[in-house]
Amino acid sequence: MENKFTMYNTLTRKVENFIPNEDGKVGMYTCGPTVYHFAHIGNLRSYIMEDILEKTLRYVGYDVKRVMNITDVGHLSSDADTGEDKMLKGAKRENKTVMEIAQFYTDAFFSDCKKLNIKRPDVVEPATNCICEFINLIEVLLEKGYAYISGENVYFDTSKLNDYYVFSSQTEKELMVGVRDDVDEDTNKKNKSDFVLWFTKSKFDNQELKWDSPWGVGYPGWHIECSGISIKHLGEYMDIHCGGVDNIFPHHTNEIAQSEAYLGHKWCNYWFHVHHLNDKSGKMSKSKGEFLTVSLLEEKGYNPLVYRMFCLQSHYRKPLEFSYDVMDNVKSAYEKLIKKIAELKNDGEVDKDAFEQYKEKFMEALCNDLNTSSAITVIYDMMKSDINDKTKLELIKSFDEVLSLGFAAAADSKKDENADVDDELKEYVLAKIEERKEAKKQKDFAKADAIRAELLEKGIIIEDTREGVKWKRA
Ligand code: AMP
Ligand code: ZN
Repeated sequence: MENKFTMYNTLTRKVENFIPNEDGKVGMYTCGPTVYHFAHIGNLRSYIMEDILEKTLRYVGYDVKRVMNITDVGHLSSDADTGEDKMLKGAKRENKTVMEIAQFYTDAFFSDCKKLNIKRPDVVEPATNCICEFINLIEVLLEKGYAYISGENVYFDTSKLNDYYVFSSQTEKELMVGVRDDVDEDTNKKNKSDFVLWFTKSKFDNQELKWDSPWGVGYPGWHIECSGISIKHLGEYMDIHCGGVDNIFPHHTNEIAQSEAYLGHKWCNYWFHVHHLNDKSGKMSKSKGEFLTVSLLEEKGYNPLVYRMFCLQSHYRKPLEFSYDVMDNVKSAYEKLIKKIAELKNDGEVDKDAFEQYKEKFMEALCNDLNTSSAITVIYDMMKSDINDKTKLELIKSFDEVLSLGFAAAADSKKDENADVDDELKEYVLAKIEERKEAKKQKDFAKADAIRAELLEKGIIIEDTREGVKWKRA
């Protein structure tokens, strides 16, 4: 397959031509939500941009298999294995069981995704479904000498790797060791950067979810779940792994360490990271400031797709600051565009050359490391151009396969209302309309009125509008 798509790869720190392992096919993995609370719109920025990535790959012709985990166990409030278990925290907060919390917030997450036109991945797998896979992975890591048991927990030994900090430059690596100095230290660890694969000696006596394992009753660490689930569904080689930038370290760094130690070869070629949505005070959070959710935006009168457009207007590799002022501007631009689309006439022939030309421009923008704001500019340019309405409508529908901004629905609302009128009657009506147009041109208004009356007798109403004569059945 011709290689058109380019993307920034966090691993190589370059924009690269995308070449999948298998021609025409893409295996893609996304770190899913920790389902202890509603997703905030920052989390959803990551999922919107990952949705655009998946749909762009499909649009340029790849067959994509996308897998997402649901974190329903093992994610502690600090990514460095310290703090409280997030799921337990959610269950306590709401006086429910962990599984009730997990089910409720998984449903809430997919309901938000639906409102934002984010496609559900082909495979969605809760971590609690795959305990056997995690145990198997950890056993192999122990056998190969990459893991050790200490204080009844199982740890990954990062000193066994030549290059543990794969995403960082040399100076950053030095700094990172320093940063970890002030992490609340677990004295069972041999090295500061080691991380937990399996907890048995949990500091949470009331941990609800526990499973039997060769190392005693316990539960998996957070990082191992993404390695286990992705290898289960995508095999030993993966093309693209996605997440927000906060996942780069330690989560994705640890995923690579344990997956490659387990597999004995390189695992994933491209790493895609979405920068954060911030509020005025900095990083968005579920506990401080206004908890910005899709439902809150709806309560304030915003169509969730306005938020999708807000995200698409800036590049995924730049931090984005949320503000209601900008949302208001996007809202008015969005509504104007929808109105213009709904005003297009659904008649005439598609101009194939013009269609291909604009489609090419649109793809060029997206294939340039997902330049979504340029892709939206192509829509504006196309709408302003003098190509015919039918071509515009078809282009809108095509572009919306990727952008998913509800434009296709607006275009579809312009479907021919008289599609089910039989061809003979349709031909007769169109001929009469032409005849009437001619009569009016000749200023023969009596004849024009007679034609109108004749049509009415056949059950057809005609109406003179700015866009021309419209007709429908009475
Ligand atoms: P979590 O539910 O905390 O596991 O996070 C779900 C996803 O949201 C992960 O891919 C995070 O990297 C991402 N994420 C977290 N905070 C933000 C933010 N403020 N902006 C964009 N993405 C975020
Ligand atoms: Zn993950």
